[in-house]
Amino acid sequence: MNIMEIFDTMEYGPAPEAANPGLAWIQEHQPFGLFINNKWVKPASKQYIESINPSTSKPLARVAAANSADVDKAVKAARRAFESWGKTPGHVRARYMYAIARHIQKHSRLLAVLESLDNGKTIRETRDIDIPLVARHFYYYAGWAQLMEQEMPGFAPAGVVGQIIPWNFPLLMLAWKIAPALAMGNTVVLKPARYTSLTALKFAEIMQEVGLPPGVVNILTGEASQVGEALVRHSDVNKIAFTGSTDVGRSIRRATAGSGKKLSLELGGKSPFIVFDDADLDSVVEGVVDAIWFNQGQVCCAGSRLLMQENIADRLIAKLRTRMEHLRIGDSLDKAVDIGAIVSPGQLKEIQRLVNQGVEEGAEMWQPSWACPTEGYFFPPTLFTNVSPATTIAQVEIFGPVLVAMTFRTPEEAVALANNTRYGLAASVWSDNINLALDIAPKIKAGSVWINCTNLFDASSGFGGYRESGFGREGGKEGLYEYARPAWEAKAAQELHIAKDSGNGVPPSNGPILAEQQEEGEEAEEREGDSDNGRVYDYHSALPAIDRTPKMFIGGKQVRPDSGYSREVYDRQGHVIGQVGEGNRKDIRNAVEAAHAAAGWASGAAHTRAQILYYIAENLSAREDEFARRIVQQTGAGHAEAANEVQAAISRLFSYAAWADKYEGVVHRPPLRGAVLALPEAIGAIGMACPDKYPLLGFISLVAPAIAMGNTIVVIPSPQSPLSATDCYQVLETSDLPAGVVNIVTGDRDTLSQVLADHDDVDSMWYFGPLEGCQRVELASAGNMKRTWVSYGHTRDWLNTVQGEGQEFLRESTQVKNIWIPYGE
Ligand code: NDP
Repeated sequence: MNIMEIFDTMEYGPAPEAANPGLAWIQEHQPFGLFINNKWVKPASKQYIESINPSTSKPLARVAAANSADVDKAVKAARRAFESWGKTPGHVRARYMYAIARHIQKHSRLLAVLESLDNGKTIRETRDIDIPLVARHFYYYAGWAQLMEQEMPGFAPAGVVGQIIPWNFPLLMLAWKIAPALAMGNTVVLKPARYTSLTALKFAEIMQEVGLPPGVVNILTGEASQVGEALVRHSDVNKIAFTGSTDVGRSIRRATAGSGKKLSLELGGKSPFIVFDDADLDSVVEGVVDAIWFNQGQVCCAGSRLLMQENIADRLIAKLRTRMEHLRIGDSLDKAVDIGAIVSPGQLKEIQRLVNQGVEEGAEMWQPSWACPTEGYFFPPTLFTNVSPATTIAQVEIFGPVLVAMTFRTPEEAVALANNTRYGLAASVWSDNINLALDIAPKIKAGSVWINCTNLFDASSGFGGYRESGFGREGGKEGLYEYARPAWEAKAAQELHIAKDSGNGVPPSNGPILAEQQEEGEEAEEREGDSDNGRVYDYHSALPAIDRTPKMFIGGKQVRPDSGYSREVYDRQGHVIGQVGEGNRKDIRNAVEAAHAAAGWASGAAHTRAQILYYIAENLSAREDEFARRIVQQTGAGHAEAANEVQAAISRLFSYAAWADKYEGVVHRPPLRGAVLALPEAIGAIGMACPDKYPLLGFISLVAPAIAMGNTIVVIPSPQSPLSATDCYQVLETSDLPAGVVNIVTGDRDTLSQVLADHDDVDSMWYFGPLEGCQRVELASAGNMKRTWVSYGHTRDWLNTVQGEGQEFLRESTQVKNIWIPYGE
């Protein structure tokens, strides 16, 4: 036998990792209890569920099935713990988190074995990827706990956090959720997925080992219908963080609408893997293996759509088939296995169903010649060619080892195909031409773009989606804001909580808003006949002599309302002081269309946007007195107060002109040879409903940051005092603002907001109005999972620069894209 023959006939022998340490640990602890207040407690239901080893389909462990009574108990424990943990100095939290990271490393092999037994993923991955990343997360966020006071002044923890995680990366998802939450001083109730609870339970044991104060982390195993839903609906939970399917994400959005809970959703994906003809095809093949066969393809950001430049497609497919023929599938504890088991029989069935559908729809399916093990839940790596972009397998998340391949001819076509999905989680771009790759990256609507690499993750670099892949980021500094809120807001919420508890008549659900309305009411009374410290202004005699009935401002033009109706505008004494158009669904539709047509605004130079904002300020300043009179006329404010509001609006325009070219993102240095560019990008078309208070300043405070960051907008001015916004038409027209960047539709705030929130082409909706409106906006937003920013519970003082401007507004105006660029030969 010569050497070539030896190479050809060599086979891998079995290389099993010992299961015993994991099995012994399970034996010692089961049936597992719930982890509440640092103690193991029996579930109220006295019921247990079975965990199965997917590699063998044999029972592995019995874990407790919690119900709503346990959820209540855990939330109470977390609330009690929050009273002190929320005030614990950052350095103390950092020490605990550092200890957690160390203990994870100390137990790393046991954790890796347990994860492989419970989930079916290969030991190679749990040992070398999942568990090291878990430790890295706790180290990284221990650093942010230490730095919070200096680096995030003016921020407070969100409170008690409910976290719901999926089964595909059980311990890693736990770390992504718990580490930033603890770093910011929150307490946690976490529900693992029903199939994969074991590493979360080992993590609970680690909490005991490090002596974390009781109640800071609570872990409830069980079914979604009993635990997940109760956690989402619990009235004493301040934030929900969820990773899982888009359908469940949508139902959570609806369930939390109007509740005032913060929400972050990491949902599904159908990520493109784009190969240009100058890419190194051998590297590409290994990239595809990582993209779609890593974790059996059960990865939200799996590169499940292979987009190949047409002239290399045949060569690449041939290479890929050869490689697939050599992939090894089998027991998750075998160290020489590439592909492990699918998590459950249900998931296996779903993959098979979608694959059958692909065949029925006419795509060509290819699988390697070898057979899968007959014991356990296995599915072979599968490749579809001859796929039409509109078919189910090209659109739906299969969440299995199934790759669908399509071709393109030009870079433009590649971008169009890549973006032809309702998702926007990640993308890979493969080309030896870095100019081309960096030209493509910003054009793809996705939260992470990997250049000549794929599926790279690190605690330093945020991860999260665009569109129906959800909102919010995990990782990086941006991930911290999901678990913190401005201190003034937290204080206001706390005061209302106390008021609620002392039964002073503020109803729990709509208390915050009532407070806001009440305050506005009181202020209005004070303002009546106001003479303030400045001069008394006779605004009736100051009305302009010529009738100026404002129209809508759409696509840079003043257009009549579609309805042909107008609505009257009153002063505080009830006199009619003007009319504005009664906007309707069609006006909004036209405005959204105009906003989309102006999307080029985002790709222009930030310097130009800054110049235009300065120009708007200049033109507003030239008409300062007129704008002040209009405020006096509408609100009854004194002239000095109104003039002050105009000044504040001019200053605000200056602030965002300044920020336009300074909110630039950062370069991360994860542990790899390369860099990650974290770039804040415009969200797209934003709908916004303005507050009644400060009709000019409220309007400018929302419009300016959004357009400074490159968004185009459709604004509904204050329905009570819309004339300050409609007076801005001429200011905008004379300030070189491109048509369609700002569109203004007057009318009923709630009717028009509903249309915007329902609209599939609106990417984010801001709403500053009554609670019922906030709830309606959040509910409607679930349609296309648009981001929302609503005002519930908090009276914002628009004159105050801490509350009325700054980075909070810029964060709401952007989404961070992380572009991974490894380098070196
Ligand atoms: P789900 O979205 O149903 O589950 C994810 C987590 O949410 C689990 O802990 C689950 O609990 C819980 N959950 C489910 N329903 C609710 C609810 N109504 N309220 C609160 N919590 C709930 O994912 P599946 O496990 O059912 O997988 C289905 C599909 O979802 C996959 O095929 C895949 O396409 C996608 N998916 C995407 C993931 C991602 O990372 N983006 C991760 C996992 C799945 P329980 O386990 O008890 O059901």
